[in-house]
Order: sequence, then C-alpha cells, then structure tokens
Amino acid sequence: MATTIPSPPKVGMVSLGCPKALVDSERILTQLRSDGYQMSADYAGADVVLVNTCGFLDSAKEESLDAIGEAMAENGRVIVTGCMGNEADVIRARFPDVLAVTGAHQYEDVVSAVHEAAPAARGAFVDLVPDAGLKLTPRHYSYVKISEGCNHRCSFCIIPSLRGDLVSRRPDAILREAEKLVAAGTKELLIISQDTSAYGVDIKHKPQIWNGPIGQGREVRAHMTDLAEALGELGVWTRLHYVYPYPHVDKVIPLMAEGKITPYLDIPFQHAAPNVLKRMKRPANEAKVLQRVKSWREICPDLTIRSTFVVGFPGETEDDFQYLLDWLDEAQLDRVGAFRFEPVEGAAANALDGALPEEVKEERYQRLMEKTAAISTARLAAKVGRTLPVIIDEIGEPDEDGDLGATARSQADAPEIDGNVFLRNVSAQLAVGDIVDAVIEDADEHDLFGACAV
Ligand code: SF4
Repeated sequence: MATTIPSPPKVGMVSLGCPKALVDSERILTQLRSDGYQMSADYAGADVVLVNTCGFLDSAKEESLDAIGEAMAENGRVIVTGCMGNEADVIRARFPDVLAVTGAHQYEDVVSAVHEAAPAARGAFVDLVPDAGLKLTPRHYSYVKISEGCNHRCSFCIIPSLRGDLVSRRPDAILREAEKLVAAGTKELLIISQDTSAYGVDIKHKPQIWNGPIGQGREVRAHMTDLAEALGELGVWTRLHYVYPYPHVDKVIPLMAEGKITPYLDIPFQHAAPNVLKRMKRPANEAKVLQRVKSWREICPDLTIRSTFVVGFPGETEDDFQYLLDWLDEAQLDRVGAFRFEPVEGAAANALDGALPEEVKEERYQRLMEKTAAISTARLAAKVGRTLPVIIDEIGEPDEDGDLGATARSQADAPEIDGNVFLRNVSAQLAVGDIVDAVIEDADEHDLFGACAV
C-alpha cells in the first residue's frame, strides 16, 4: 500500500527592520523548516503568517503595524514577533485577533506559537534543512550575528530595554556557522551585533575549541580580534559592522592590510562634538578618534569607513553642528548616512532640554548631506583608473547590441547599504557571487562604473 505523505503546513513570513532582524527571521524559518513546515511566498498559500517587526523608531513601529494590518486583511492567521512584539498591548489593542505576540529573540516562543496555530505532520518524509540553515539573503553573502543586546545606554536608544544586555555567542559556534555558510557558497560574511567591539565581554572572553575543518581543534577566545583573525582564515570577504572605536580595534587594521579581513569598518559615530556625544552617552567617546582614523589609513590605505550621524539632537548648538562638519572634513569618511533626531518612545533623550525645531533639523540635515556627498564624490573619483576586486550581485539582460551588464560591489560597499559598481560588457560566463577584477572608468556621488579587467 502506498504511503500517503501529509502535505506540510505552510508559513508566510514578513520580515521588517534591520539586518539583525533578518538574521532572526532566518533562524526562525530554519527551525520551522526542520520541524516539517514549508514556506509560502504569498499570503493566500499560508496557513499562518509570521510578521517579524521593528520597533526602533516610531516610524518603524507604524510600518510594523501596517504590515500586521495587511497580513490580517490578506490572511487573518497572524503571529507577531520581533522588537515590537515587546509592546503586545499596542498590537492587541489594534488587532485583537492576532494569534500570538512574542518579543525579539524569543525563538522558542514563536516556534511553539506556529506549532499551535498550524500543527506540523512529523515523520520520515519531512524536508531536511540545508546544512547552513535557511537564508533570506542571496546565497553569496550571509549575515552572521555574534551577539545580542547591548551594555550601553545611549540616551536616544531603546535597544537595551528591548533586547537586554550583551549576550555573546560562543566563538566556536560562530565559526562553525561561518564555515558551513562558506561551504554552502557564501563569498561574503557580514558580521553583525549591536556592538561588535564588545563581543565576548559578558563571557569574559572565554576561549573555546574550534573544531571545524579549518579550525582543527584550535583555541579561539571570545574576543573581537581573535574572532576576526579566525574568520580571516575562511578565505572569503569578511565585513565588520557596528564597530565602536575601542583601542583593540587597532589590532584588526593589520588584518585588513594583509587582506584577511575586508578593509571596511562600519562605525556608528552618531556625532563628533564632545558636548553632544556626552548627552548622547555614546561609548568609546574619546577625543583621539581622528588621530586613530589617520593612523588606520596609514596602515591600510584602502580602508573604507562608513558611519551614521544624528543631527538636531536636543541641545545641539550651531557650534556643535559646525564642529561635526569640520570633523567630517578631517575624517573624510567614505560613506555616511544621517538621521534627523526623532524622539523614540521610552528613550531617555526625550527628557533632555533643548529640543530643536524641525526646520533647524532639516536645515542641518541638508548641510550634512551636502558635505558628505562632496566627500564621497571626491573619494570615489580617486578610484577611477584603478583595478579593484568586485563581487557580482546581479547580471542584467542583454541590451539591443547583445551586451550584458552586471551590478557588483567593491570591498568598500556593503550590500543594501552602500553603493555599487556597474559593469558593462561582462562575459556570459560570469555568475552571481563571482569575485572578479574590474577596471574603474567613472564615478559619481555614490557609485562606480567600469568593466571587467582582462
Ligand atoms: S551602543 Fe547605544 S545605540 Fe547602539 S544598541 Fe547600544 S545603546 Fe543602542
């Protein structure tokens, strides 16, 4: 008699927010897949829809509520998780029929809510999970989260109250995951956390044995520099995000100069004026940062620094803002994003005096963007004529002459955040994820243009 394989329940997923939330979604989906669930690409085919929310800014909360509303209207069987899940009352007040609300990183809770809403048929025929888990990013790059939470208390931020204090993963677990990802085709690892430089502080940098094919039983400390060194042996691009300029960051720069770690640092400076940094309660707030940036570039001239800034923080004077503009002239950061200060419900900064009118925030924002666009344009123009390694993200359709173009990124470009390198006349043999040399022929404010080197 033939065995009837029960069709597995299907889960839809809407993932909002930052790369950290994306990694959470991947983790949840990996677990559900191993529990026998299938994924649904649309609302109609889903037995239950998960909405992974972001609650960082009030505007992100609104977006999360809109996404829940859409999932309720389209499907009606909805489980909410993620940062905004910590505000279950707000969600239930608006959508009393959601099936469950769980907070950020409550993987077990969200998975058991799915089991309850749509029980999985278990048995020998459930799909096997790929070794490297399920990914929402393209196969050639992967985010690796090394810790959760944060020990700082920046006055504009509610992440510590949403996610708690720093909890670092074991270095051997991170390295095993990275090895598996590389074996599965990942060419670029994006290391993320709330504070990458603080990695391992909570577990007293305790060493563990790295038993993978590359680790071969060696001891690795739970420390940013040791982890960077070990990741550097995997032979792929490794990009460090959310790095604060603590002194030990200096030790990572030689690894970049040697080509082991991608020469790229994402440092969320947020401001430069000491007065504002103090009110923001920023970590690693020290006067010598400019000097250190200079010495990093002496060791590794190709180092790209990306950062974000907040303008119009309460109490920011015109002098403070001018200080920031002058600082940017000195620092010559390659990539800069900026936000106009926005009070976030529950943030300590809301109680600070000196709130600025919206027009002032807007005017400063425009001045900052003008300044950083000019710096970026000049820094990109200096790359014209050079040959740089690029990773292929997308291959286009042939144009009327049959020529193929491709969208790539240099080591200076993190996916989805920075610019691109647009390539003309690429070979039909080229595939997404290939790393090739490109001759840079032109540049604008954000992107480079070129052709594959022959
Ligand atoms: S370092 Fe500051 S801004 Fe970043 S997560 Fe921690 S408290 Fe928030």
